[in-house]
Amino acid sequence: MPASNREKAIKTTNQAIIHDKLWLKILIGLALGIAIGFWLSPLAGGGFTEAQAAKYGEWIGLPGVIFLGLLQMVVVPLIICSIITGIADSGSMDFVKRIGGRAILYFVGTTCIAITIGMLLTNWLQPGANVDPALIENAMGGANTAPEPVQTLENLTIPQRIANMIPTNFTKAQFEKDMLQIVIGSILVGLAMLGLSKSSVAPLINLCKSGQIVTMRIIGWAMQIAPYAVFGLMAQIVIQLGFEAITSVGLYVVCVLGGLLAMGIAYLLIASIFGGTSPLTFLRGIREAQIIAFSTSSSAATMPVSIAVAEEKLKIRPEIARFTIPLGATINMDGTALYQAVAAIFLTQVFNVDLSLNEMVLLLITTVGASIGTPAMPGVGIVVLATILMGIGVPPEGIALILGVDRLLDMCRTTINVTGDLTATTVMQKWIK
Ligand code: ASP
Repeated sequence: MPASNREKAIKTTNQAIIHDKLWLKILIGLALGIAIGFWLSPLAGGGFTEAQAAKYGEWIGLPGVIFLGLLQMVVVPLIICSIITGIADSGSMDFVKRIGGRAILYFVGTTCIAITIGMLLTNWLQPGANVDPALIENAMGGANTAPEPVQTLENLTIPQRIANMIPTNFTKAQFEKDMLQIVIGSILVGLAMLGLSKSSVAPLINLCKSGQIVTMRIIGWAMQIAPYAVFGLMAQIVIQLGFEAITSVGLYVVCVLGGLLAMGIAYLLIASIFGGTSPLTFLRGIREAQIIAFSTSSSAATMPVSIAVAEEKLKIRPEIARFTIPLGATINMDGTALYQAVAAIFLTQVFNVDLSLNEMVLLLITTVGASIGTPAMPGVGIVVLATILMGIGVPPEGIALILGVDRLLDMCRTTINVTGDLTATTVMQKWIK
């Protein structure tokens, strides 16, 4: 498939998501959903019985259920296609060997730093702790029953855990939405394709590219009904949980933004200590890429600008910039990882799910895998989050609580994702002589 057609198709979907003031519509949906939910809630004394509220709530929540269903339907193929295309398109096996290992090590390292910052901050500030547990339990007794955790670290030795990362049955991994296995399987396929002749892998690459475009189109549609989904899901959750569930979202936003800011400062240090670029030069150089990332909420859409500023402003050698940035845009999403960790722990606090230390480690590993698998487009970090939530026993419907503020957080985390890719180019420039 010609690259320009593919880029055009991807751009069209991004445009549909970015334009039409979708963020404003989502915020209006959020506010109306809270108001209606509060009015219907038997807890608020609006005159409705519990049975009536549950009946209306089910109908009002329907668009939200459809919205989540659409996103969950496409997330696995989207991730597989994005990873395979990202790696298979990255050049020759020789160059990948030289730079790839170090880049991936660096990406995984900074992603772990980001997740750790997010986890520490959320465990310290406890943004989800002020929701009354009795109200949650009340709600959990209704429609939202927590799914069984699909994976657990308990009872497994370390070699077993490592062995478990290989998807011995790729279909089963997809069926169970085992994100880590899906990501590792896709990386292996991408790497295998790199070592083979272009003509023999062309059909599979084209299939993945088409798969990416089609799944992104469906996400584009889902985003169009997002305001109604937020309205319905919000109303439903207020009916079930009461108003306290909403007030705790403010502190959650503070957690995400505070964590992203800390990560931004960490980048300035990394760029100056390991990349030899002073914080001021770095910030001045990457300004344009950051603004585009903030306004498009898509690392992929920002990629051409990121490559341009890396080469022109930061004076990065083209072969380094052109490998590191596309790879980084695909697999290095520190802002998204931090956000997913904060959101997951916030929701465990809201839904009163206790995480043991082992489960925290599992969450860290899963989030690294999930952020690698999150495609670089607007609003998908929250889609992938649903799968992380299932893994730790939090109902994915909890996403309704944080969906309303997601647009703002998406803009900020994408800015950090892009900053992370640009930081990586300065470090790779020093590392690869
Ligand atoms: N919008 C982000 C990006 O493109 C991904 C996400 O939703 O977290 O980098």
